[in-house]
Amino acid sequence: MVQGSANLNTEVTEEWLQEYVDGWVKFFKKQTSDGELANYIPILGEADPEALGISIIGKNGTTIKSGNTEEKFTIQSISKVLTFIVACMERGLTYVLDRVDVEPTGEAFNSIMHLEMKQPNKPFNPMVNSGAITVSSMLDGNSSDQKLETLFILMEKMIGHRPEINVEAYESERDTSMKNRAIGYYLLEGDYLESDLSITLETYFKQSAIEITIDDLARIGLVLSNDGFDPVTEEEIIPRSITRLAKALMLTCGMYDASGKFAAYVGVPAKSGVSGGILAVVPPRVRDEELPFLEGCGIGVYGPALDKQGNSIGGIKLLRHVANHWDLSLF
Ligand code: GLN
Repeated sequence: MVQGSANLNTEVTEEWLQEYVDGWVKFFKKQTSDGELANYIPILGEADPEALGISIIGKNGTTIKSGNTEEKFTIQSISKVLTFIVACMERGLTYVLDRVDVEPTGEAFNSIMHLEMKQPNKPFNPMVNSGAITVSSMLDGNSSDQKLETLFILMEKMIGHRPEINVEAYESERDTSMKNRAIGYYLLEGDYLESDLSITLETYFKQSAIEITIDDLARIGLVLSNDGFDPVTEEEIIPRSITRLAKALMLTCGMYDASGKFAAYVGVPAKSGVSGGILAVVPPRVRDEELPFLEGCGIGVYGPALDKQGNSIGGIKLLRHVANHWDLSLF
């Protein structure tokens, strides 16, 4: 039985929260055996399938971490939120939204079907591969490294250090990812791409291979929770209008074809990646009882064993449990 069903009307202390989270992580770690690693990118098949970790950082600095907290892993699809933000900052919201829609697909993240069958006048949303590859093509610069420079600067502002690309992971995906190349050719044929196809795909594979930790994800989540402002200095990192849209896209499309269920049962904007990471954003909320993180928090989760939709199987269960017990939902 999972511990922690106690009424939360007692004083919220960090030790007390830590104890609960330790118990929950231990419990949900056992359920990782129902999931599978993302073997389609060979290097991701080498992860520890039983790993599960969570980091929660609150606006007031409260930090709760548990489980596998030190692992570095590649950001994969979570980068889609950040490149979307960068493209909007560089080109303006209207320019980007003229070229990528904001509708959920209900299909797998790497589906090519809607491009082929529905022949939309633009890719459905920036959180699935077709939309994200289109967004990568919009980033400023004539090479993949130039295109990603603003992303690195943005990430440094959010997480406090410049992240690095895991070259082995980049090459592993670049050399095997035929489906993304197929999507790229569809996009090229549909005249969606703003830069050369090979540079666009190189950018997309590199952004996916940026190495992060769950603390980094929690810090990114906290900035988004704080409407794009640094939680300590209150300096603007991302314009509020762009932050708002990014969170709306995370809520409606961030967990792929499980986004509806995640919104219903967890109720916060989130974005997953096939390496097993989940970035979750808990905005400030008004409640008439004392609950943890009422001023908002960012959450990072890592659990590389995935469910059928490509989301961390233990991570989703753990997040759902935390959200239910601490009433984190927006709704
Ligand atoms: N780089 C991965 C891919 O395109 C990202 C997918 C994901 O994290 N869901 O397949």
